[in-house]
Amino acid sequence: MTDTTGATPVRGPALDRIARRLAAVLPPGAVITDPVRLRTYECDGLTHHRAVPGVVVLPETAGQIAAVVRICNEYGVPFVARGAGTGLSGGALPRTDGVLVVTSRMRRVLEVDLPNRRAVVEPGVTNLAITEAVRPHGYYYAPDPSSQQVCTIGGNVAENSGGAHCLKYGFTVNHVLALEIVTPDGDIVTLDADDPGYDLLGAFVGSEGTLGITTKVTVRLLRAPEAVTTLLAAFGSIEQGGRAVSAIIGGGIVPAAIEMMDALAIEAAEAAVACAYPAGAGAVLIVELDGPAAETALQSAEVERVCLESGAFELRTAADPAERAAIWKGRRSAFAAVGRISPAYIVQDGVVPRTALPGVLASIDRLSAEHGIRVANVFHAGDGNLHPLVLFDDAEPGAAERAEAVSGRILDLCVEHGGSITGEHGVGVDKARYMPKMFTDDDLDTMQLVRCAFDSRGLSNPGKVFPTPRLCGEVPGVRRGAHPLVESGRAEQF
Ligand SMILES: Cc1cc2nc3c(=O)[nH]c(=O)nc-3n(C[C@H](O)[C@H](O)[C@H](O)COP(=O)(O)OP(=O)(O)OC[C@H]3O[C@@H](n4cnc5c(N)ncnc54)[C@H](O)[C@@H]3O)c2cc1C
Repeated sequence: MTDTTGATPVRGPALDRIARRLAAVLPPGAVITDPVRLRTYECDGLTHHRAVPGVVVLPETAGQIAAVVRICNEYGVPFVARGAGTGLSGGALPRTDGVLVVTSRMRRVLEVDLPNRRAVVEPGVTNLAITEAVRPHGYYYAPDPSSQQVCTIGGNVAENSGGAHCLKYGFTVNHVLALEIVTPDGDIVTLDADDPGYDLLGAFVGSEGTLGITTKVTVRLLRAPEAVTTLLAAFGSIEQGGRAVSAIIGGGIVPAAIEMMDALAIEAAEAAVACAYPAGAGAVLIVELDGPAAETALQSAEVERVCLESGAFELRTAADPAERAAIWKGRRSAFAAVGRISPAYIVQDGVVPRTALPGVLASIDRLSAEHGIRVANVFHAGDGNLHPLVLFDDAEPGAAERAEAVSGRILDLCVEHGGSITGEHGVGVDKARYMPKMFTDDDLDTMQLVRCAFDSRGLSNPGKVFPTPRLCGEVPGVRRGAHPLVESGRAEQF
């Protein structure tokens, strides 16, 4: 694998000098320059993009991150924040010419304030750890990415992450009340949902590390629902399952989650975790209802009726938490499970309007047949967020290219149907080239102006999100000024 950032590694005296400066502001052992240890951080969940970071730092406080960022500014080197590295768009891909700021030593739940239904946590706290800290009191943190056992809240904020239950409860942006951030200049500031004026908190959430580094997050806590009902419905085909989804939502029910898997995804889950979904299913639908017990009982009867009317040949309702977990097991393992039926795969993430789902799925089938590439479909059916898993054999010449072509065409389909190139995995380095398919040059320039308002030197996670990175005030495509590390023998890279 090659360095996919296009940057020239910072080596020699420049790197040594920066590393010495960083060591002076960080605790012992918090600066990594050993080439073998640096390799640990060379990619995130998008493993075909790799770059060995110039330096890795493991700060413990916001003050230390601010000091690191100020040193980066002094030397004009880029910095990239990293949480758990589970991102699927290469957002945490390091720079060989820069500093990777890893939040793994910032894992404290600082405050739980139940009367105000909020918790304050450090950025390296995992998503699930927040719920675990408040569950004994009957509360939870709602956004639930499938990676929640390991991904960090700092990464969730940067990606505006979602999960199966975001249909009813909203994405990360709906659950963050305040952030403490280190700006790209090295100042520590707070962005609060109650701040008057522009919604800078809203702008920061989902900015993929390009507007600064989150050092503290205040999240909203929800009361655990009185009742949860989980149903599994098996259909002969995706079309029947799709009909059920439309009828459930069209009938005024908003389930907490409504997830669908097609036959190939079921086959993979079966091979990996023996989830025992009904044999012969062309699609399964998982519908979860929560709320007051009387309401969920009524809704669950209605969902059963609609599923049967839409062609379901088997229905199961979880009788207890163990059965509920068994129903979810196959869905939660779906991404990793395809590794059981294919040597390599691409996890795609796109959105289409719910009503366009049947047409888009049929087009994906056609693409799959035309290119001889299998596609397993797993999706948050309620909000049209597709996760096609494009399977290929990386030992077969040309297969990776064909898979990449299918994957790209799927994004085209999403855009053509008025959807989006990403539902929750972000743009990162992987999808930057697709941004012009959704946005005009004017749109992108306007976004760039926002970026420049936060980060006038383009040092915070450069090379991500935007297809043609440029510095503030530059004419598109024309670079200005020399990089301070020209002395290290390389040209300006960002
Ligand atoms: C098996 C699997 C299942 C997944 N399921 C889901 C899912 O259901 N829903 C979903 O939305 N995503 C999902 N993801 C994607 C991923 O887990 C999320 O994007 C997650 O939020 C990334 O968190 P992280 O801590 O791993 O961040 P990283 O991968 O380390 O970083 C992600 C981005 O956040 C930035 N970042 C990290 N920390 C900070 C910080 N403190 N300040 C500023 N920027 C920061 C990085 O620079 C990068 O741009 C899944 C991934 C895997 C591997």
